[in-house]
Parts: sequence; structure tokens; C-alpha cells
Amino acid sequence: MHELGLCDALLKKVDSLVKENELEGVNSVTIEVGTLSGVIPRFMLDCWDAVIDGTAYSETKLIVNSIPGTARCADCGAEFTVDMENMKCPDCDGEHLIPTGGNGMTITEIEAY
Ligand SMILES: [Zn+2]
Repeated sequence: MHELGLCDALLKKVDSLVKENELEGVNSVTIEVGTLSGVIPRFMLDCWDAVIDGTAYSETKLIVNSIPGTARCADCGAEFTVDMENMKCPDCDGEHLIPTGGNGMTITEIEAY
């Protein structure tokens, strides 16, 4: 379960942004998680609650937006949105997919005051 490590890193990142910009606090942090990243949004929320507990960010809300993963087929070159239930090329049924998007986690918004 690497979500805990990710939340820990996310909190450190938020904390350094707050200090750099001399902000008082953060209302919410919005992140985008690709379906190909292997990160489970529900676990992120649970882990976030665990890492912020007892810190200056214990009231900060985490908002997780899931974005679809995209990939290119190594066999025929088709590009498509990956169906997580059926990870195959829709054109040739090839199973050699190269992720082109939605395979990471990005901070999209930090609402600070
Ligand atoms: Zn293909």
C-alpha cells in the first residue's frame, strides 16, 4: 500500500509551498490520479486522514479526481483510453500497451489562505 508514502510526500510538498509563500493554512488540496497509476483514490483519502492527524493541516481536505489512463498500442500504434476491465488494444486486441497518460499523480489545486 504505497498510498501512505504518497500522502506523506504530498503533505511535505504542501507544507513547503505554504512556508515558501508564507501562507497561513490550506483549506483543500486537489489532486488528479490516473487510473493507470495504481493509486486507489479511496485509499488516498484514508491515508490523508492518517498523515494530517495532529499536524497543522488536520483540517485540510483532500479532493481526488480520477482521470482515465491513455495508452498506445505497441503493435499497431493506435492510441486510446484504457478500459481497466479489458486492457487490450481496441483495434488489434494487442496486449502490449505503452502508457501515454493517466499513469501518475499531480497536484492540480491548493486552496490556501
Ligand atoms: Zn493495436
